[in-house]
Amino acid sequence: MGIYWKARTGGIMSEIEIIVPEGMFGPDKDYLVDAIIRAIAETYGDERNWPTKYGVNYENDVFMMKSYCWCGGDDCPWCTGEMPNFWYKPTDFKVTWYKFIGRSMEFNRPIPIGECAEILSSCLPKQEEIIKVEE
Ligand SMILES: [Zn+2]
Repeated sequence: MGIYWKARTGGIMSEIEIIVPEGMFGPDKDYLVDAIIRAIAETYGDERNWPTKYGVNYENDVFMMKSYCWCGGDDCPWCTGEMPNFWYKPTDFKVTWYKFIGRSMEFNRPIPIGECAEILSSCLPKQEEIIKVEE
């Protein structure tokens, strides 16, 4: 993680880079959301379409995911930016990316850690039955 400054001193432009340890400013939710979206895509996608890279086209009552759209259509809600690539419906959390999950990824608002956990558990399929082992 680096922070960059450009400073003009006496007509000379100088650049300063300060390196801080990862995590110093708190949890990096970009990575967390990135991992959650990849996990969901892997669950619902066909591995031949590389869902952990591109995402998956899938929608249910809880969430919608759509891979980056290449159609370029003027009336395409994804190409015009009307629709995100990932939409968690219960809290209206939306994520967009450019071509690949994680690339130029943007959220419609900041997301608390607890909501990340909720998204993961709500979007992955429920375990239908729990097998108890009795000794
Ligand atoms: Zn499109």
